[in-house]
Amino acid sequence: MSNVFSYIKKQLKIENVIRENARSLTETGEYLKCNCPFCDKDENLSMTVCEPKQIFYCFKCHIGGDVITFIANLFGMTQLEAAAFLEEKYEINIPGELLRSIKESKDEEALYFEKMFRKNAKRIMGLLNEEGKQRYAEYMEQHIKDMREVYSHYSADVFKKYLGDSDGQ
Ligand SMILES: [Zn+2]
Repeated sequence: MSNVFSYIKKQLKIENVIRENARSLTETGEYLKCNCPFCDKDENLSMTVCEPKQIFYCFKCHIGGDVITFIANLFGMTQLEAAAFLEEKYEINIPGELLRSIKESKDEEALYFEKMFRKNAKRIMGLLNEEGKQRYAEYMEQHIKDMREVYSHYSADVFKKYLGDSDGQ
């Protein structure tokens, strides 16, 4: 997922996104400054935007980070939702190849953990009586189901759902 985030960040200029969402973006020497949209009625240009590093920081409320963090804080979104929001709003096309590679690596990771868990479970089963074995088997299946669920949220498929199938496939 971090590859998708960095791809989105590379397609955007943080100063443009902040200009659209904050008041009085002005150049002051090396940095850009603006009224912080997170501080209540900030009139002091508390927020600094560093163009070369593509980050922002507010000296009053101490919120800072990249463009995804800015949007996440502004709209109360998760990082993933903020990334999807930016992708849609600024019409960024994430290459299908990038999404596929993320999905593949996550699927591999999920399979690895499932294998490890089943191996461990076998050892634990050896220590249990019949009733314990049965109950443990039920618990194990539920745990694996939960684990798959967690991984499916990380997968690119879910991310693409957020993005509304933007690469047109
Ligand atoms: Zn602030």
